[in-house]
Amino acid sequence: MKKLFFVMMIVFFASMLAFASGQQGGGGGSGQPQIGVAIYKFDDTFMSYVRNAIQQNAQGKAGLTMVDSQNAQPTQNDQVDQFITRKLNAIAINPVDRTAAGAIIDKAKAGNVPVVFFNREPFAEDMRKWDKVYYVGAKAEESGTMQGEIVVDYWKANPGADKNGDGVLQYIMLKGEPGHQDAELRTEFSIKAVTAAGIKVQLLAEDTAMWDRPRAVEKMDAFWARFGDQIEVVFCNNDDMALGAIESLRKAGFFTGGRYLPVVGVDATAPALQALSEGTLLGTVLNDDVNQGKATFDISYALATGANVTGAGWPIIDGKYVWVPYQKVTRDNYRNFLR
Ligand code: BGC
Ligand code: CA
Repeated sequence: MKKLFFVMMIVFFASMLAFASGQQGGGGGSGQPQIGVAIYKFDDTFMSYVRNAIQQNAQGKAGLTMVDSQNAQPTQNDQVDQFITRKLNAIAINPVDRTAAGAIIDKAKAGNVPVVFFNREPFAEDMRKWDKVYYVGAKAEESGTMQGEIVVDYWKANPGADKNGDGVLQYIMLKGEPGHQDAELRTEFSIKAVTAAGIKVQLLAEDTAMWDRPRAVEKMDAFWARFGDQIEVVFCNNDDMALGAIESLRKAGFFTGGRYLPVVGVDATAPALQALSEGTLLGTVLNDDVNQGKATFDISYALATGANVTGAGWPIIDGKYVWVPYQKVTRDNYRNFLR
């Protein structure tokens, strides 16, 4: 009995410790570098994956203060001010509005706190403001091109995909947040890949669903009501919106009884891989959260400890950029990406 009580006390204290180290600003042992991380909003599927990857890499190496900017740039600016006032050793910022990066860099420079941006790319002229500024991300064009290629393969393999037989691919584009490099460039390069393959296209409608699944359901409901069977392909800038489009099309009678409409996304989230396995989603592109999170941490850690960034294990391009490659994901290879 006594022994059991003793064991229970140990478990209790151990979990108290674990709890304390998970708290804001409480992370890391003494002597470890302190890194502040601001995420544009916690409630974003892809960013929650990146967040986990950063946290896992920081374990035992650095104290993290991870904050939710709740999709408000003023909130994030206050958070950055606090990081700088606390003299954290480095900060990693996923901007709410990438045009705000310039002001963040000015403040970081004034406080001499190195900064790593990730996922939302600042403008090149802002990146040049200081040498202790880095960016970790993926080449948005690449994901668009891969998405387009997936559609090209499908179109060529399935003559029936041209539903009205006019030799033109009629499509819907569901965009992410306007101004986000991934929204703008995926929209552009997915279609460029299709036309580069010699396929004529016609845009039926394009609208933003802000990376968000419920909004994508609403938009797709409206597109279906307006265009119905004229729609031959649905391009979505991310998986959450692709899953929203599929949900909407399901209501319209698709994905059962042989009725199919190709929908493509980007990210390769767990639910998207599930949809691939079920044969609803045509394809997606891996947005490599594991490596983006690792690179973000590794570069921040090197900066925080005053180490040479080129020794952090990632090729540094143009002195400032780490590019993590995308990968095509289809029904043929999705098993390799299951989480
Ligand atoms: C992802 C989206 C995500 C966005 C957040 C993009 O790279 O594909 O799913 O919502 O980043 O900034
Ligand atoms: Ca057609």
